[in-house]
Amino acid sequence: MKPTQLFILIAILLAGGLWLYGTYFAKPRPPHKRPAGVTSPGDRRVEKTDSEWKQILSRSAYNITREQGTEWPGSSELTNEHRQGVYTCVCCRNPLFASTTKFDSHTGWPSFYAPIIPNAVYNEPDGNRTEVRCSVCDAHLGHVFNDGPEPTGLRYCMNGVALTFEQGK
Ligand SMILES: [Zn+2]
Repeated sequence: MKPTQLFILIAILLAGGLWLYGTYFAKPRPPHKRPAGVTSPGDRRVEKTDSEWKQILSRSAYNITREQGTEWPGSSELTNEHRQGVYTCVCCRNPLFASTTKFDSHTGWPSFYAPIIPNAVYNEPDGNRTEVRCSVCDAHLGHVFNDGPEPTGLRYCMNGVALTFEQGK
């Protein structure tokens, strides 16, 4: 057997082993626990298993909202969306941000200075940053920083893939 054939064989065995492990042995991630005291608009709640989320979300939306991914800056069309409307959660359609609070942060991510109502989202510590999640379904949306414009001084730095724009609402 040539070295290249051996290498390919080992690679196939490794990939197969990883697939078997992921399919049969890896435990599913436990659902995200919403911190005590967090409320949602109308007490609405959406809870699904990882495999159910995978079925209804695009691959990138799943990666960002359920696996805390971050989209490439400038990759979302919503960064340059200037029409009037409401930005809702891509997972559960919870209204999150109004276009009236959107501003151009020059970061490459859609940015807002406040949620549409205070309990539309909630914050959680994430290392030295503050993570922002949807209060209805716990989707990871992005992070919030203290360098935003008036009147709040906050910058909600969102992944466009986690949002759906609904015009004219
Ligand atoms: Zn949601």
